[in-house]
Amino acid sequence: MISDKYGITIGLEIHAQLLTSTKIFCSCSADVFDMEPNSSICPVCTGQPGALPVLNEEVVKKAVMAAIALNCKINKYSRFDRKNYFYPDLPKGYQITQYFYPIAENGYLTVKIGDESKKIRIRRLHIEEDAGKMLHSADTITEATHSLVDLNRCGIPLIEIVTEPDIESPLEARLFMEKLRDILRYIDVCSGDMEKGALRCDANISIYNKNTLERSPRVEVKNINSFKFVEKALEYEFERIKSLMEKGEKIEQETRGWDFNSRGTVAMRSKEEESDYRYFPEPDLPPLIVNNEYVEQLKNSLSELPDEKIKRFQREYKISEYDATVLSSSKKLADFFEECVKLYNNSKRLSNMIINDLLSLLNEFNIEIDESNIKPETLVDIAKMVDNSKISTNIAKSVLEEAFKTGKSPTEIIKEKGLEQIDDEEFLNSIVDKVIRLNPKAVEDYKKGKKGVVGFLVGMVMRETRGKANPKVVSRIIEDKLKTE
Ligand SMILES: [Zn+2]
Repeated sequence: MISDKYGITIGLEIHAQLLTSTKIFCSCSADVFDMEPNSSICPVCTGQPGALPVLNEEVVKKAVMAAIALNCKINKYSRFDRKNYFYPDLPKGYQITQYFYPIAENGYLTVKIGDESKKIRIRRLHIEEDAGKMLHSADTITEATHSLVDLNRCGIPLIEIVTEPDIESPLEARLFMEKLRDILRYIDVCSGDMEKGALRCDANISIYNKNTLERSPRVEVKNINSFKFVEKALEYEFERIKSLMEKGEKIEQETRGWDFNSRGTVAMRSKEEESDYRYFPEPDLPPLIVNNEYVEQLKNSLSELPDEKIKRFQREYKISEYDATVLSSSKKLADFFEECVKLYNNSKRLSNMIINDLLSLLNEFNIEIDESNIKPETLVDIAKMVDNSKISTNIAKSVLEEAFKTGKSPTEIIKEKGLEQIDDEEFLNSIVDKVIRLNPKAVEDYKKGKKGVVGFLVGMVMRETRGKANPKVVSRIIEDKLKTE
């Protein structure tokens, strides 16, 4: 997708659902995913006449925590405004948001692109409420005979994060989103589940000709609901706009939606101007004042962020930056690793086992480490057995897999399956003799100076013993024998 002739400028608007137990202005439950439609609603969140909003303090707390983690300046004074528009999923006829005075602004996030670090600036972060959800009787609105509305999501607390147009490729956009998700998860502000709508992303994109500096109008891509499609949708838009520019055709300033079925974007509507919303201050809520003490308190309570953790892991456990980054990708995984290291100090072995073996099992079964059968003790037991030459690394992998699937202890599995490594020299001697006898050519080759045949013969012994022979002992026996042949 790299083009010599055209460049791309992307800005993101991200909505993140805050992990609070109740909604933003009422006491209805905010955990509405999988709930019966319209079962978590009340006069406040459905906008009945006379109902008054009361701001949930938990929302302010989580928003400030996110702002701190994203290096934003936190505004002592912020305020709520009404964004007026009509749609059936918004019974009040307006959305309460922070338009004129957001709670935070001027932040940034550093993203690693290859070996380079790049700062992507965050213009603003503000608090707002979500709207409900329409359910149409057909896939497309034109085919639908009727529509239903579910107001459970009305009043779900959100933060909107708006970046500066600093992003210069679809890949960067995806990396930014992934980093943002990791951070919000770390500090327990947002679950980060794009598939469940807890994290949503709209992208503003424009293309420019690098030679003539001619620039396309800005196109907004909405409804990007997975990390994969952040990149895909933007690549698609880049190609679409580029080909229009090359043909000299007019490019509309419009809003397009990512269409899952056609794997492309489709026009939704020409973009409204902000002035169409007739913003004005929300008369039912006082200004929001956040003092320094409150911010300092939250700063101190924030857990270590991924970037700091990666540096500390490299320093404390002497592991590579790559390994530290993988281990820090989720807080649960990082905690698991540290629990293991507390029990057994071979951090390199433990980190290898987690990254090479355990992670692929977790991905395969799509579960988190705390939901799996593998406890720190389990992994440590296996690691110790490898270090004591009781089992080979290959066997260790299958023991881990078995423990993962059955919850049995490593000792039990090894006993049951007879997987213990064979160190018995007398027994190994007899196998080596047999292998040498069956491979006279290898012996000839060795005599001609081809030392590589030792590896081949070790492999044959491993095969004979179904992977259980101690390869170090076998290799020594073979070399001794070949020298005296
Ligand atoms: Zn309610």
